[in-house]
Amino acid sequence: MKDNQQTGKVIIAGAGPGDPELITIKTVRHLQKADVILTDRLVSPAILDQYANPKAEIIYVGKQCRRGASTPQSSINQLIVHHAKAGRLVVRLKGGDVSIFSNILDELEVVNKHGITYEIVPGITAASGAAAYSGIPLTARGYSTAVRLLTFYKSDVVTSEYWKELAGTDDTLVFYMSSETLHGLVANLVANNISKDKLLAIVEQATTPFQQVQVSSLYDYDENVKGREWISPSLVIIGKVVGLQEQFAWLPNSNSRNVYFEQVSASVKNLVTQKETEYVGRA
Ligand code: SAH
Repeated sequence: MKDNQQTGKVIIAGAGPGDPELITIKTVRHLQKADVILTDRLVSPAILDQYANPKAEIIYVGKQCRRGASTPQSSINQLIVHHAKAGRLVVRLKGGDVSIFSNILDELEVVNKHGITYEIVPGITAASGAAAYSGIPLTARGYSTAVRLLTFYKSDVVTSEYWKELAGTDDTLVFYMSSETLHGLVANLVANNISKDKLLAIVEQATTPFQQVQVSSLYDYDENVKGREWISPSLVIIGKVVGLQEQFAWLPNSNSRNVYFEQVSASVKNLVTQKETEYVGRA
């Protein structure tokens, strides 16, 4: 542990969406020097295996949608402050990008409040990862001029007025944390007469060896998709651009229904000091 300084430093860094090579060199360098790594569940175990300082203490503070007990964000904040105040280099490693559907604001507020020095390092968000690895160019010229990152993890996060707007827009829609509410999502768009040339893609475990992409018309949802259990994490993409997948998909669907992010390697498992916790969604 580095202790020649009074207060340590906090690096809030994105680990990318899954494929361990989709991480920045900057974040790798921080991981190699870290004293403490506070990591989310949606971080490839290979990243910690390969890049973490072997002497670093790795603490799992991941949150999981609707499953398991929850360690409140306040505990994560306390851990950050405790280790930084002890003079350590703390890497707070988050899945995807640091600021997309994450609790970064709580962490920024707490480090600021305690006068702790910090840096923010971006990561590749799931939308970019899933788009690239499924061959869906999110704002392909002639198809869409914008992309919206949304969530529908519970029914009251999108108002009925906004469903109307979402059904009418030509923007590509990407829904995070919404596979469990997919049925309602599709029903709302169909009820608002979304046009038939906009398709739905569900990308499970994007950029991992178990990636699977399902494409359907929203109007054939009941026949093609309804009732299917999605492996977490999965992302929903809706728009005309989804039709391009047929032509440009370069990665075949995995034949496996294995779960990538639960596979914490034995070496890393030994270091688990904090139970995975539930996502406290903040859209
Ligand atoms: N900060 C993250 C998002 C955290 S919210 C980012 O920038 O990507 C968690 C949600 O992200 C999941 O419920 C899922 O919708 C999406 N997600 C994250 N990783 C994913 C992956 N590899 N494949 C598909 N969806 C993913």
